[in-house]
Amino acid sequence: MESFDVGIVGAGVHGASAAYHLARRGVRTAVFERWTPAGGPTGRSSGICRAYYTNPFLARVARESIEMLARFPEHTNGRDAGFRRTGFLFLHPQGDVTAVLYGAAALRSVGVDVEVLDMARLEAEFPMLDLEGLGAGVWEEDAGYADPAAATLGLLERAVELGVEPRMGTEIVDLEAAAGGGGVVTTGDGGRTACRRLLVAAGPWTAPLVRRLGVELPLTVERHVVATLAWGRAEPMPFGHADVASGYYCKPEGEDLFCLGSLLPAAEADPDRVLDRITDRETEELSGAVARRVPGLAEAEVRRGWASLYDVSPDWQPVIGEVAPGVFVDAGTSGHGFKLAPVLGRHVADLVTGGPVEPLLAQFHPDRFGTGRPLPAGYGEARILG
Ligand SMILES: Cc1cc2nc3c(=O)[nH]c(=O)nc-3n(C[C@H](O)[C@H](O)[C@H](O)COP(=O)(O)OP(=O)(O)OC[C@H]3O[C@@H](n4cnc5c(N)ncnc54)[C@H](O)[C@@H]3O)c2cc1C
Repeated sequence: MESFDVGIVGAGVHGASAAYHLARRGVRTAVFERWTPAGGPTGRSSGICRAYYTNPFLARVARESIEMLARFPEHTNGRDAGFRRTGFLFLHPQGDVTAVLYGAAALRSVGVDVEVLDMARLEAEFPMLDLEGLGAGVWEEDAGYADPAAATLGLLERAVELGVEPRMGTEIVDLEAAAGGGGVVTTGDGGRTACRRLLVAAGPWTAPLVRRLGVELPLTVERHVVATLAWGRAEPMPFGHADVASGYYCKPEGEDLFCLGSLLPAAEADPDRVLDRITDRETEELSGAVARRVPGLAEAEVRRGWASLYDVSPDWQPVIGEVAPGVFVDAGTSGHGFKLAPVLGRHVADLVTGGPVEPLLAQFHPDRFGTGRPLPAGYGEARILG
């Protein structure tokens, strides 16, 4: 039987990033992906890159990942992740202000450049906003957005250049535990491959896959939409903003367009039977919310949009750890895992290879739910802010 040191299931941005970091260490790795790189939720991500997290480890990982995305060609032999630095404004209701002040100080202590803006400054510096229901804003200077498909492809192509074996169009239909750890994966054509260590980074399909090993992960799946609009006659806003008070985010997309999405949880969905387009009603809800906050955007023109899937843990924080001997998962990143992946993959590679591991990674092990230790995340219902 063919064998590898590490087998990775899934070539979303998390699988691709782990493959990249393993390749840099010369670990013999194969990546199995049933579609194409970023062919699942990664390729439908809004691609927002901000380090505005309440979890200090994730804030640091996001900050470092943003640096990596901004200097992607240096890391990937000339490839481009389409990173654009735009700055990002977070708008909070009055009830969040104490936590926001605390959170901003914690972020600055891990090197994230954020500034809290009181109502007078919000009014002076962002005259396009209706400030109804707000108590403070936070400006993150270095935030922006990138192209999730280009980032994933860039990481994977560089990994392949360094020796990783790409098995695209290859579905894993079964997993078995191997004696001595790791697993044997069976592909759709009946081929079997032994993996001394196995990393399942299969997004919304991670839980059903590891269930084959008798491992239950508390991950659920939600359908989330992104609406695209053209600025039209409206004044373009060159920076992104997230309105925690109203529950939506908005980011520019190139010169002419912008995207809108929700910060709030959605109904549970079946990952294999989901409507992958946005409905008129969903578009109206999002465009109505942004027009209430930024009245000038009532002039924007609705284009299209799409829907995709979040794999969500009970606390909306990632689920990363060894779940059976030599079998690891990296999943549960809901709607905030794209920008974490470039550097999180390095920590996951440490874990999978048994190297020294950053101790703070242990907080994401799924056993936290069984032992009553869920993590805090975000602000109020907007746990997507991590
Ligand atoms: C609409 C939307 C907007 C988002 N916006 C942002 C954002 O602005 N910023 C941000 O940071 N994050 C955002 N996210 C979240 C981010 O996209 C995800 O956290 C991230 O892409 C997850 O990557 P992944 O590699 O873990 O999983 P996935 O992208 O789900 O990849 C898993 C891969 O595994 C493959 N696979 C599954 N089962 C099998 C199998 N049996 N055999 C072989 N292959 C298999 C799938 O085909 C898939 O390609 C958004 C997500 C969505 C859906």
